[in-house]
Amino acid sequence: MKTVLIILDGLSDKPVKKLKNRTPLEAAKTPNLDYLASNGVCGLIESFYFPWQKYPRSDTAHLALFGYDPRVYYLGRGVYEAVGENIRMKKGEVALRANFATVDKNLKILNRRAGRISNTGALIKAISGIKIKGIKFSVTESLGHRAVLVLKGKGLSSSIGGGDADKNIGIKAKSIIALDKSKKAKFTAEVLNEFLKQTHDILKNHSLNKKRKGKGLLPANYLLVRGAGEFRKTPSFYEKYKLKAGCIAAGHIYKGIAKVLGMDLINAQGATGGVDTNLPGKISSIKKNFKKYDFIFCHIKAADILSENGDCVGKMKFIEKIDKNIGSLLNIKDTRIVVTADHSTSCQTKKHCTELIPVLIYEHQKSENREIKFSEKSCKKGKLKKFKQIKLMTKILKK
Ligand code: ZN
Repeated sequence: MKTVLIILDGLSDKPVKKLKNRTPLEAAKTPNLDYLASNGVCGLIESFYFPWQKYPRSDTAHLALFGYDPRVYYLGRGVYEAVGENIRMKKGEVALRANFATVDKNLKILNRRAGRISNTGALIKAISGIKIKGIKFSVTESLGHRAVLVLKGKGLSSSIGGGDADKNIGIKAKSIIALDKSKKAKFTAEVLNEFLKQTHDILKNHSLNKKRKGKGLLPANYLLVRGAGEFRKTPSFYEKYKLKAGCIAAGHIYKGIAKVLGMDLINAQGATGGVDTNLPGKISSIKKNFKKYDFIFCHIKAADILSENGDCVGKMKFIEKIDKNIGSLLNIKDTRIVVTADHSTSCQTKKHCTELIPVLIYEHQKSENREIKFSEKSCKKGKLKKFKQIKLMTKILKK
C-alpha cells in the first residue's frame, strides 16, 4: 500500500475567543478531513523538541515525523538550509544560516534584515573567495536578505554559537563563541569571527551600500549567522523503510531535510510556501506521482505563517481551502492518507507551542466507525490515543 503524508505546518492551536473559544481547526468546516478521520483512525501527537529549544521547531519535528531521532540524527538547521539550496555538502563541512543586516560603527544591530534587502548578488560576489587559516568561506544567495554560509576545510566544528542577538535590535552583534572545550570549536569560532570582521570591512565600503545610503535605504553591512550544522551522512529513508519516497515542498528547510534523507524532490508548479501557494497544483502533483513512489511527503506551510501573523480567521479559512483540495484524494484506491502537523502554532502568542497535534491515518480496512470532526478535541478520543512524534512511522506502517 502506498502512503501520502500531508504535513500542515503549525495546523493545531489553542482555543481563541474570536472563534468562540475554538481552535481555527475546530472552527473550520472540513468535511473531507472529517470523512478521512471518521473512516480512518485518529490520535494526538506529542511534538519532539530538545529541552533547550523550549518549544518544537520545524526541522527537528520533521526528523521525528520521519522516524529519525533528532538526538541522533539532527545535523543543525544550517545544513538543511544549505542542502535545500542545492549546495552539495561534504563530511566535516559546516553550514550556517545568514542574514544581511545593518549595524552601526560599534556593531550595534540597527536592522536584522537590512531593510529586507533583496538581490544581494553583488555583495556576495565581493565577499566570496575569502580564505582564513586554510578554511574557505562560501556564501550563497537565498531568498531576500537571507544567505547560506559554508565553511570548508580541516578541523571544523559546529559546536559554536551564533552572532544574532536574540531577535533584538539595538544590541551589539555577538562574537562567535565555542560551545565546548574542543580545539576544533575554538578554531572554528576564531576563523568565523575573523571572516565576519573582514566581510564587514568589505561590505561597509561597498558601492551598492553607498548607493543604498544615498537613497535613504539601510546598508547591508554585516552578516548575522546562526544555526551552525556539520554535515555527515544520514541513513536514507529507503535504507530505513525500503520505500521509494518523494517530497513536494516549497521551503528550503523541508526540501533540505527530504534531500538529506535521500527523497526525490517533486516539482509542483506554483508552490510558494506562502498563503498564495497553488494547492490544486500540489494535490495534482501527488496524484501524478503515485505510480513512481511508495511514499509521498507533501508539506503545506501557510497555517504556520498565518498563526505567526496572529490571523486566526485567515488560518481557519486556509484550513477550509486545504480541505476542499484534499477532497480529490478520497477516491484513490490502495492508498493510505496521513494528515498531521509538525507542531502547533498559537495565533495568540504568534509562536510555536507545545499543544498536542491531531493526526489521522486513513486506510480502507481500519476505521473508528464513528463520526469524527478532525480537531484537537475529538482526536483525543481516537484509537491511536496519545503518542510521541518519533512513533508516527511505526503507526503508519503497522499492518
Ligand atoms: Zn513548522
